[in-house]
Amino acid sequence: MTKKLSEQQLLAIELILEDGMSALATADMVGETPETVEKWLADYHEEQDEKLRFQEAELIVMQKRIDELQEEIAIHRAMYDLIMDRPDPASEKQAKEYWAKMSDKLKHKIVTNAFCIDCGATIITDYVMQGGEEGIILYGKCGKCGKSMATSVEV
Ligand SMILES: [Zn+2]
Repeated sequence: MTKKLSEQQLLAIELILEDGMSALATADMVGETPETVEKWLADYHEEQDEKLRFQEAELIVMQKRIDELQEEIAIHRAMYDLIMDRPDPASEKQAKEYWAKMSDKLKHKIVTNAFCIDCGATIITDYVMQGGEEGIILYGKCGKCGKSMATSVEV
């Protein structure tokens, strides 16, 4: 639909839009009828509108992608906050006391029932603990992909 405008058409459009000349005077200058010049102008506006609609569509697509990225960032930030909220020594000591009282079977169940949001694996390794009366949280790494992960257990 986009037609390439001729030099003559472009000159006429420039005279009208930028220099404020009338279609009649412009028609004289480019050696065409005023109707032809009016038609050029209408075509030009139509083309500009089309470009604008296309740009708007592109913006909508970009905005959608930005929204998706912001969601991803929010998830990663939440994970980061969780991981960086490292145990304070007192709660780590308490968690270790609870941990020591647990059966090996239960410990095994806890470290093999975590969930990695990156790869879906369920084994947590290299973990540290914090906790209290309500439960224990293990902060560590995914046994498969090595990304940070956490899991918790009520005691
Ligand atoms: Zn993983």
